Amino acid sequence: MQHIQLLIIGSGPAGYTAAIYACRANLHPVMLEGIQPGGQLTTTTTVENYPGFPQGIEGFDLMEEMRKQAESLGTDIRQAIATRTDLSQAPYHVWTDDDTELTADAIIIATGATAKYLGLEDEKKYNGLGVSACATCDGFFYRGKTVAVVGGGDTACEEASYLSQLAEQVYLIVRKPFLRASKVMQERVLGNPKIKVLFQTETEGLYGDGHVQGAHLVEHTAEGDKHYDLSIDGFFLAIGHKPNSDIFRPWVETDETGYIVTQGPRPLTNIPGVFAAGDVADPLYRQAVVAAGSGAKAAMEAEKYLAGTNK
Ligand code: NDP
Repeated sequence: MQHIQLLIIGSGPAGYTAAIYACRANLHPVMLEGIQPGGQLTTTTTVENYPGFPQGIEGFDLMEEMRKQAESLGTDIRQAIATRTDLSQAPYHVWTDDDTELTADAIIIATGATAKYLGLEDEKKYNGLGVSACATCDGFFYRGKTVAVVGGGDTACEEASYLSQLAEQVYLIVRKPFLRASKVMQERVLGNPKIKVLFQTETEGLYGDGHVQGAHLVEHTAEGDKHYDLSIDGFFLAIGHKPNSDIFRPWVETDETGYIVTQGPRPLTNIPGVFAAGDVADPLYRQAVVAAGSGAKAAMEAEKYLAGTNK
């Protein structure tokens, strides 16, 4: 068993930024990188909305730079996955996938969220080649093109509306005969001449030579199933995200989806000394720059907590 002053779990923009701030506060943070070192951004292409990079930067490169900065300031970054926790009392216990038991005075949870996919083999085949789960990240590449968004909730409607400002034509693929999104979002989508909603429709597969060129769809009608192909250049998933909070329950309070509940603008959880930053606690924005900002806040709160001046 090893004791750590400040343990950061997760290595996306929130985790790295927390680490950078924690190092500068002399907290000697230890970071557990998790399943996907660098987080969701490592799977996207060019990031054009992270300030400081006027030409844009590859998501993977941006995370590498953050990692180097965190490491050069003194973060002890470990290739390990937190698999279990006991946060019933301080010091808090965390177990990793290599059976190491750690105790920590304070913890910053920055484990992110994972976009849900339909589970089609073709989603993996064309990932980054026309398949994306983030319109804000990748929409720019579809200027003047035809795209499809899957989902009928607020995210799908928002993404379809956003993409309609760039793409020539947007299809919204909805499995039910209605949208689940809020009234205002529904009206925005249904009144947008560039968006065509395909109700009662599901995706069976994707096709294309090296890049998505279309989707195999099935429409469930009263007369039976109608299978057809739809030409598209981009396929966007917007069927929800799953926050990576499972191992912190039942200790840490979450909402019904699993997002960690924090106290207003402060990244405090219901457990003293346990903070949550980034997408795991953010059902609304889910942007790298927002996650980085919350990581900074979490480290500043951890510093105050460890010094006993957090009141
Ligand atoms: P939701 O869970 O609200 O919606 C998910 C959508 O994806 C539903 O239409 C669902 O269909 C569909 N879906 C799920 N699985 C599949 C599947 N396997 N195949 C096809 N379709 C599928 O997620 P959101 O991300 O849209 O929203 C999450 C929360 O965040 C909500 O509370 C939302 O209101 C909120 N939000 C608010 C915003 C705002 O206020 N501006 C913006 C974005 C999100 P079905 O209906 O059939 O289950």
